[in-house]
Amino acid sequence: MSSPSQASIEFDAICIGFGPAGIALSCVFEDAREQAQPLARHAIRFFESAALTQWHPELLLAGTDINHHVFRDLVTPRNPRSRFSFAMYLKSQGRMFDFGLLGRPASRAEWSDYVGWVSRQVDAQVQFDTQVADIEPQVRAGRLDHLRVVTASGTAATTRHLVLSTGSAPRIPALYHDLLGPRVFHTSQFLTRLGAFGANLPRRWMVVGSGQSASESVLELLERRDDILIHSVHRSLGFRLTQLGQFPNQVFSPSHVDYFHGLAHDARRQFLDWSKSTNYAGIDPDESLKLFSLIYEDRLAGRDRLRMQPYRVIHRVAQEGSAYRVVTTDKFTGQEDAFEVDAIVLATGYQQYPAVPLLASLQPWLREDSDGGLLIDRDYQVAVQENCDARLFVNGLSERSHGISDSQSFSLMALRAERIALALDQAISRQARPTAGDAIAAPVNANTATA
Ligand SMILES: Cc1cc2nc3c(=O)[nH]c(=O)nc-3n(C[C@H](O)[C@H](O)[C@H](O)COP(=O)(O)OP(=O)(O)OC[C@H]3O[C@@H](n4cnc5c(N)ncnc54)[C@H](O)[C@@H]3O)c2cc1C
Repeated sequence: MSSPSQASIEFDAICIGFGPAGIALSCVFEDAREQAQPLARHAIRFFESAALTQWHPELLLAGTDINHHVFRDLVTPRNPRSRFSFAMYLKSQGRMFDFGLLGRPASRAEWSDYVGWVSRQVDAQVQFDTQVADIEPQVRAGRLDHLRVVTASGTAATTRHLVLSTGSAPRIPALYHDLLGPRVFHTSQFLTRLGAFGANLPRRWMVVGSGQSASESVLELLERRDDILIHSVHRSLGFRLTQLGQFPNQVFSPSHVDYFHGLAHDARRQFLDWSKSTNYAGIDPDESLKLFSLIYEDRLAGRDRLRMQPYRVIHRVAQEGSAYRVVTTDKFTGQEDAFEVDAIVLATGYQQYPAVPLLASLQPWLREDSDGGLLIDRDYQVAVQENCDARLFVNGLSERSHGISDSQSFSLMALRAERIALALDQAISRQARPTAGDAIAAPVNANTATA
């Protein structure tokens, strides 16, 4: 715990993470600045660990597309007149009419380019290449008075208002914790790890998972080596289709967030389980057909590149020399089976921790629910103890309190950013402005300050 006397620059608010959620928040302030609204007066600094904005670069694969409507971009649901919309992006690139003729969703490459295009216009207050390592409490007269945001390089800034837009964490089953490395990795490292093999891509693989990242990993590996052998391991009977129906997809609408947030703790958990099973861990019909056809055609040709392993529970993975021996059990018959692979891809998705690890040092000042998780109000503000004068908001880490649509999705990003910005404005306005405010509002990004 540090004392208030330790000098560091103070900001009205500090936002950690400048992925899509952080960018959407910055767009709110930039729109306000252009319209000379009071919201724009605050001195806000963003810290982003990456050197530049990229949207899930490790799975930026050819042939992949987005799974939300392009109207659900970084701004349109909040302000269709904002100049940071996907439509404005298309217009600026001269692709408005051709995009319309495509009659399909935007590719992931195009969406990533759109996110980068917006980012470059609203990143004047972003300090890139800056990983936040800790948030320390500064206590004065028994009260948590300020937050000290400490970066990995040891520099610090202080604030009373914090927004966490740090995204979800890769889910890595405990079985693999000691094996992680160049040959056992999560899809969040997919292209980097494949690239590191160069011309020596291993032949025998296991891909764990039944969702989109699993099918994409399988298809990419098949492209990269002709004599490859992939064990595709599933708890059910292979890849499931994602839920495309209009009715269940209404969970991604704003009214459902109100509904979900109004539920009791246990009901929220039940609702989340139900909505996850209807919307997560599924693949598109065309991908499903592609994978099934591939296995079928391989059989005709006497090839065996993709071996499906259905109803499997993996209960042991042991390194034996340069290979991994995988032992599985059939969920229903109990029959044990084993095979050997040279490398493993964990397409096991992402998770949100009930208690955010980055807030660990603040734990005594945070109020908890019965699972030890954060209590988050409808405006995404984290509930704190009475002796805490700092205010914290989560921007994209509220799956347990706001439901599936409000966490790992673009659907409500723009509306959520607006809600957080307004609540932040109120919180800051209730407190005195920091003395260094005017000086620190100067852009940190010389490249883009005038964009
Ligand atoms: C491959 C893939 C495809 C997807 N496709 C879709 C889709 O088509 N449609 C959809 O709605 N959703 C999709 N999603 C869900 C995805 O979560 C959202 O699209 C979106 O990326 C969420 O944005 P975010 O800013 O909350 O999180 P992230 O995109 O994860 O961004 C978080 C940012 O915070 C930074 N950060 C984290 N910790 C720190 C720290 N300590 N200090 C400083 N910076 C930090 C990270 O570097 C990152 O830039 C996809 C997810 C994946 C993995």
